Amino acid sequence: MKAGVVAVQGDVSEHIHALENAMHVLSISGEAIRVRKAADVLSVDSLIIPGGESTTISKLLKLSGMFDAIRKRASEGMPLMGTCAGCILLAKKGGEQVEKTSTELLGLMDMGVDRNYFGRQRESFEASLSIDGLSRPFTGVFIRAPAIVETWGRCKPLAEFAGRTAMARQDNMLALAFHPELSADSSLHAMLLNL
Ligand code: GLN
Repeated sequence: MKAGVVAVQGDVSEHIHALENAMHVLSISGEAIRVRKAADVLSVDSLIIPGGESTTISKLLKLSGMFDAIRKRASEGMPLMGTCAGCILLAKKGGEQVEKTSTELLGLMDMGVDRNYFGRQRESFEASLSIDGLSRPFTGVFIRAPAIVETWGRCKPLAEFAGRTAMARQDNMLALAFHPELSADSSLHAMLLNL
């Protein structure tokens, strides 16, 4: 199995490490690779879009041709996880800040996000989350994190924080407002590989 992490900006090596860990725990043989061009997107079995700055990541996805390749693979069923900035990019509705910056979203999931929703309150914090499908609480690290403020259609909330959705799933796609790669627990990376 080949699992990829989009490597244009953001915390890539932590995701690679968590994927390797999850493969080990699940006894899957495979590798985790950095994805930098459209051909790489076509070669992986699953993909993570990490946190960073959604405006910048969106531009770099467009420039590299990965934007359309990701949309194509995800709509064909490739397991895809977006964390923090990656979560914003998966949404169909981006809210005021996304509009102001004219950020182009992948628009793959039936959800609306509010960029920097939690960042305005406290720049960075940890919270214990109860997540559907996990048997124990997961420590979510929120860094200038968005909130999922709306879900509809096939998109279902999997975790709540402070009255907002912090994680959602739509078929083969997972959107996380927080950074799972910064917790010592690779169970959400395992959830992706199990999709
Ligand atoms: N606030 C960032 C954005 O809007 C996301 C922050 C992050 O990914 N840690 O793109």
